[in-house]
Amino acid sequence: MRPGLGREVDEAYRNRDYPRLERALRSNSLVNEDSPMRCLVWQGGKTSAGYGYLQAPDGRNLPLSRLMGYAFAGFPEQRRGDHVAHACAERLCILGQHLNVVTPLQNFQEGVIRNYLDKKILDLSDASPQHLAKRRSPDLVLWKAVQDIQVLRSGGMTQRAAVKKNGVMHHSTYARLRREFDSENVKGSERRKGLETYIKNRDSHGILAYVSKRVDRGPAAHDGCWMWMGRDTGGYPSAGTRRTHRYLARVMLWSQRGFPGAYADFPKVLHQCEKAMCLNPEHLRDATAYIRLIHPDLLAPRLAKIQESGGSV
Ligand SMILES: [Zn+2]
Ligand SMILES: [Zn+2]
Repeated sequence: MRPGLGREVDEAYRNRDYPRLERALRSNSLVNEDSPMRCLVWQGGKTSAGYGYLQAPDGRNLPLSRLMGYAFAGFPEQRRGDHVAHACAERLCILGQHLNVVTPLQNFQEGVIRNYLDKKILDLSDASPQHLAKRRSPDLVLWKAVQDIQVLRSGGMTQRAAVKKNGVMHHSTYARLRREFDSENVKGSERRKGLETYIKNRDSHGILAYVSKRVDRGPAAHDGCWMWMGRDTGGYPSAGTRRTHRYLARVMLWSQRGFPGAYADFPKVLHQCEKAMCLNPEHLRDATAYIRLIHPDLLAPRLAKIQESGGSV
């Protein structure tokens, strides 16, 4: 790297000199001809989160894609909390054309939808049990254990043979899952009425009643939000345990749509009201409704792959 590059970048930004800023950063970057959008990839230091940075003479870290995003937008005042999002999803890219000043929510939503499509492609392209188990889905590991326990019960194979066939679980993990499975069955399905029963019966009125009883629609909840008062997982309303874990926003929208396909296959759900704990179905949209947030160059190949494999978004 050229000595004094940090000073040059810092000065160019302060002087609102876009051509000089770009020239300075280009001198230490390479065009990636293989990337769909021909990104300009920074070759210097990067933060732990993977974004390019340089040090200014006074020791400040200069976040390069952030500076370029604001510079490309015409040097507006940097507002606390705003993000500079990569339309190309390449964190080291510093090409102004790929950078947008957005709200955190827009940035988050774009990422959710992209991940949703990528997961779909992965599911379609390699759906072997071993592959899926490697992704550590607790549902799937347990489901596999249940399958083998059923075989074991019928005297079809030894535990060791079942584990060997499975190829993914240690004996102790297997034993633990088996104990959990057995104890859940002892408690009986009678005990697990409520939400799971409504889901099993595809009873959307039951689900609506279940949720309605547990939300706050009082004056504190603005804009007609139904604020969930129960448990959450990562800040999102949830219910159930292990095999029966449910994200309630997803359950709500899935049931309102008449239960198309399986719960697990229903797209991720985003909150139009920007309140993650809200369950008002009118505030919920499925991720595919936001698909236009993804840059067309990244979207088109993903949609093509999904279609080729016979899937749908
Ligand atoms: Zn890029
Ligand atoms: Zn809401």
